[in-house]
Amino acid sequence: MLRVHIPAQNGNKEILRYPTTKKLYMVDKEKILETLKEVYDPEIPVLNIVEMGIVRDVLFEGKKLVVKITPTYSGCPAMKTIEEEILNILHDDDFDEVAVEKIYAPPWTSDWLTGEAKHKLKQHGIAPPEKNSGIDSSRDYAVKPVLCPFCNSRNTSITSFFGSTACKSLHYCFDCTQPFEHFKCI
Ligand SMILES: [Zn+2]
Repeated sequence: MLRVHIPAQNGNKEILRYPTTKKLYMVDKEKILETLKEVYDPEIPVLNIVEMGIVRDVLFEGKKLVVKITPTYSGCPAMKTIEEEILNILHDDDFDEVAVEKIYAPPWTSDWLTGEAKHKLKQHGIAPPEKNSGIDSSRDYAVKPVLCPFCNSRNTSITSFFGSTACKSLHYCFDCTQPFEHFKCI
C-alpha cells in the first residue's frame, strides 16, 4: 500500500501531485521527508539525511519521484550508500519510479545542519560545527579552539585534521582530559 497518500485537504502543507495511470494521488511532501528521515549518513550514524541538510527537495516529474540531494563532501563514499538507501526506502513505500538527483551548486555547508542535528552531535560527544563556515584552518583552530562537547571548555587543541572520517577532525580537551571529534565547518 502507498502509505503516504492522503486526501488533499491540508491547508498549509505542501501537496505533491502524483499521477498514476488510474488516478491522481495527492502526496504530502512532509510525509516523504519523514520517510527519508529513516536514512542515516553512514559516516555520522547519529544524523539522518534530512537534518543534515543533504535532502534539498522532493518532487514528482510525471510519475517519477525525484529526490534532490547535495553531497556533503565531494567524493564522500557515503553518498553511494545514501543514494541506494533512498531508492530502497521509497520503493518500499510503493513508489515505482524513484530517482536521486545530485545538486552541486550551491555546495553543501555545515550551516545547513539543523539545530536538532547539532544538539545530537554534541550528545554523542562530537563537537558540532559552529556558526560560521569556511574558517577551517589550523590558524583558526589556534585562535579559536573548538568547544569541548563534554565539559564546554575551550582549553582544547587539535591533534589531527582527520578523525575516523574525512569530515571530522580530532581534538583533545586539557580540562577534562578527553579526546573528542569535531564535525568540521565547511
Ligand atoms: Zn572537556
